[in-house]
Amino acid sequence: MASDSHLQKLIFDHPVGNTRGAEAFALCADQDFRHGGLHRVKAYGDPWTAIGDLQNLGGNIDDPAAIGHVIGQIENAARVQRGGVFGRRKLIVGGADHKAGPAGGAAAFTTAKAGLRVALIDRKTFPRDKLCGGLITGRARRHYAEIFGHEMPFEAQDRKTTVDFRFRGAPMGVISDAPPLCATMRRDMDAMICAQALGAGAADFTGVSVAGIDPEAKSLALKDGRRIGFGVLIGADGANSQVAKALFGEAFDRAEVGFGLEIEAVGEHVDPSAPIRIDLAAAKWGYGWSFPKRCSTTIGVGGLLAKNPDMKVAMAEYCALLGVEADKSSFKGQFLPFGDFRKVPGRGAVLLAGDAAGLVDPITGEGIGYAMQSGHLAAQAGIEALRARRPQTALALYRRHLRPIHRALCMARLIRPVIFLPAMEAGFARAFRRSSTLRMQYLRLMAGEAEYGDILARLILRLPRLTVLAIRAKF
Ligand SMILES: Cc1cc2nc3c(=O)[nH]c(=O)nc-3n(C[C@H](O)[C@H](O)[C@H](O)COP(=O)(O)OP(=O)(O)OC[C@H]3O[C@@H](n4cnc5c(N)ncnc54)[C@H](O)[C@@H]3O)c2cc1C
Repeated sequence: MASDSHLQKLIFDHPVGNTRGAEAFALCADQDFRHGGLHRVKAYGDPWTAIGDLQNLGGNIDDPAAIGHVIGQIENAARVQRGGVFGRRKLIVGGADHKAGPAGGAAAFTTAKAGLRVALIDRKTFPRDKLCGGLITGRARRHYAEIFGHEMPFEAQDRKTTVDFRFRGAPMGVISDAPPLCATMRRDMDAMICAQALGAGAADFTGVSVAGIDPEAKSLALKDGRRIGFGVLIGADGANSQVAKALFGEAFDRAEVGFGLEIEAVGEHVDPSAPIRIDLAAAKWGYGWSFPKRCSTTIGVGGLLAKNPDMKVAMAEYCALLGVEADKSSFKGQFLPFGDFRKVPGRGAVLLAGDAAGLVDPITGEGIGYAMQSGHLAAQAGIEALRARRPQTALALYRRHLRPIHRALCMARLIRPVIFLPAMEAGFARAFRRSSTLRMQYLRLMAGEAEYGDILARLILRLPRLTVLAIRAKF
């Protein structure tokens, strides 16, 4: 079999090694064809024309086997493009080229590792930014290690063990030996996750949006006109999920959804050694945060949208509190399903994972860990269903896998009023200030070392009457 450089020489040196031949070579000469090949196929126009050109070329050179090898590679890519050539296959929406949302990346990695065909689709080419605090908890890192088989890599500087809790700007206690939190940029983290999915064999469908989904016909249309069939579809396409819309009409319930605003503060505000800062009551039914990173400090506020009709005012006030000058026009916003998860996350062979399934903690707003975990679980359910040749059973299997996550989210929703209900905020802040155990418990929860049930028990001890009132309250 010819090496890439041998083949290049054959094409360029030969009298008929014309421009099209060179393009066809470029199309398949990537170190890893999966990573760049499909883009090149698109650039060429039609992979079958590329194959025809190479076949013509092959007739005129003395090493047709080399051309045959390349043709095989293009054919594989073309089959993936056409869909259905190899029969139905698993398919993921919400991934990316070398980078993906954590749910799509984890799902694609798990599926590819299991030896099934999987396509990773994302409307963005990468690296791409994603509005997010980028704070990775111990719980999220544990899921990452379970899925990808190694510890999540991060720089020592990104590791934070000091957390400064505030209530309306007033100190509630600093914990300096917290279980480590990692302050990352999603641009880098998602890139790393998706590279692993593609490296494991997922087909790369990035830079192209999904135009429409037909769950009954098990096919979807891409904006560039292609149609793709699937055996199981995992919609890991974020809070504004198109797959959820196709199934349920709406991606989320506006009465229950959360919303966050952020800026990346630079210049004098860059101090990677500063502690993580959490400000309760910076937004109603939510909080404010300041996450110092290497090149910027991510500052934001988030909470229930319905309780914060003008979140920009809350954000402006929070920036002023931190002494950060920021114009409202620089605020970037994004929905987040703040604990409003879908009890039925899909239909038949179409599953929703991550934000698309509403899997975000209703108190902390943490979603990256659940995104990876649910993407992985959705993939496992899909694999099981496809292997049993009963793709329609994927949802039932997935729901079973998801039960512990749903239970944890229900428990957190139960506790949430104790922290965020305006009548309770001050009482909670007092208890939090007085109890280093409660503060530590909160951080241990983020580290995956404690459960919401433990927090509830401690709250009932500290605030027995108020807790009962809050739990009885209707929201
Ligand atoms: C302001 C804010 C701050 C946050 N901070 C934190 C934090 O510090 N820590 C934490 O754990 N969580 C945080 N979260 C939550 C976290 O960002 C999400 O829970 C997490 O990103 C969910 O991952 P996902 O893979 O489900 O979706 P996403 O990360 O949103 O990925 C979805 C992917 O789908 C693609 N896509 C969407 N539509 C289409 C389409 N039609 N066709 C093709 N592709 C499509 C997108 O391009 C994207 O790449 C925050 C959220 C917000 C809004």
